[in-house]
Amino acid sequence: TSVSPTITLGTRYATELADLALPWQAAETPEPELLVLNEALAADLDLDPSWLRSADGIGLLTGTVVPEGAVPVAQAYAGHQFGGYSPRLGDGRALLLGELGAHDLHLKGSGRTPFSRGGDGFAAVGPMLREYVVSEAMHALGIPTTRSLAVVATGRPVRREAVLPGAVLARVASSHLRVGTFQYARSTGDDDLLKRLADHAIERHHPSAALADQPYVAFFESVMQVQASLVAQWMLVGFVHGVMNTDNMTISGETIDYGPCAFLDAFDPATVFSSIDEQGRYAYGNQPIVAEWNLARFAEAILPLLADTEDEAVSVATSMLQTFRDRYSAAWSDGMRAKLGLADADPSLVADLVSLMQDNHVDHTSFFRALGTAARGDVEPARSLVLDLAAFDAWASRWLALSPDADAMDRVNPAYVPRNHLVEEALTAATGGDLAPVERLLSVLAAPYDVRPGLERYLEPAPDSFGQYTTFCGT
Ligand code: AMP
Ligand code: MG
Ligand code: MG
Repeated sequence: TSVSPTITLGTRYATELADLALPWQAAETPEPELLVLNEALAADLDLDPSWLRSADGIGLLTGTVVPEGAVPVAQAYAGHQFGGYSPRLGDGRALLLGELGAHDLHLKGSGRTPFSRGGDGFAAVGPMLREYVVSEAMHALGIPTTRSLAVVATGRPVRREAVLPGAVLARVASSHLRVGTFQYARSTGDDDLLKRLADHAIERHHPSAALADQPYVAFFESVMQVQASLVAQWMLVGFVHGVMNTDNMTISGETIDYGPCAFLDAFDPATVFSSIDEQGRYAYGNQPIVAEWNLARFAEAILPLLADTEDEAVSVATSMLQTFRDRYSAAWSDGMRAKLGLADADPSLVADLVSLMQDNHVDHTSFFRALGTAARGDVEPARSLVLDLAAFDAWASRWLALSPDADAMDRVNPAYVPRNHLVEEALTAATGGDLAPVERLLSVLAAPYDVRPGLERYLEPAPDSFGQYTTFCGT
């Protein structure tokens, strides 16, 4: 079938990295129905929203109508999953349709591929809307992330624990290159492929590395830096990714793979939401350490590019990796300084705040936002979230003596995040056919720093009756 002649999808990945791409096509969709469309993102991509709503447009968004010249591919990658290495993962239910300018247009839930192993290649409406909502919330929070362009219900039931309505997510990212992509390239033993992959990644994401004396060392350093910054931003906003396998860590520094992720409510570094993370490997407080571990796997994958001899490369990689903790700490401390409305860092004040939050299990989002109110002279909203009032009063008087800037705080401490009970409520309604709660939630989360009247319930933590929250991967 043909498509609007104005849509051209690049084939750069498919042609430059053909060894890492299997041309493939999406499954047919029995009864496609567009559930949500990101009109603002469509416009940014020069896609006409009204055309995307047409039959051909929906065909593009599900991969069933392929623009002339496009080469949809399943991308190969490997990865460490919960610490164990899988040599062959790849897009088991996804396809890269091609590039739109500087961005990948990618589908998730588009059917089986040669990488599907035991999976059915499909996805359900609830989890694809979940990715849409949480990724767009992250974007509005200013955190680098893949974006969501649309979710289309396919009309095909998918069998999970229950039979669920199927869907395809159309996702946009600056690329889908992962640490696992490099692990796969390395495992082929083809150093030329590894080099081409690195050059491709440098050009797309880390162009200044190309100008350095040692471009691949500079590339490694730059990937470390974007990941240190990304994970710091997750920590500052209370985001738990939940499945930080090396195939779910991007080279660009964007958040990817919204499976079992969730936002903290009560502050506790041991927080885990994912049903399969039994050891707490990917607990909130472990995320920086896991990022460092993943970057060590990345260094191993690109070792042949780092120096002429293996010994030398190992020593370069080791000394570079030793800078990760300082990079992360600098990003996190600077973020905490901003969250507290201060011009200068005060490490002991921050450390004491973290202890206070942990001891009192305060609601992460409400507490920081309430500190903005405290900075305006009303400490009561923040104080009321804490049990140990003496400890709070002692900490608050030290902090208030530094004259925090309340307006600056409100620009970095969100009022609205995708709280678990709100997301669940919206997805349940959507799975039952009512999209209004998802649309409402999306509009609330699109402006997370601006408190608006009538949205009080979106500020509140989950009611006790919501209980402990568990998330699931791969649904
Ligand atoms: P994830 O846990 O989402 O990072 O996925 C890990 C791997 O499992 C990737 O290679 C996915 O493509 C694959 N996968 C996840 N769900 C499915 C599915 N329903 N069918 C086929 N492959 C899947
Ligand atoms: Mg993944
Ligand atoms: Mg996933």
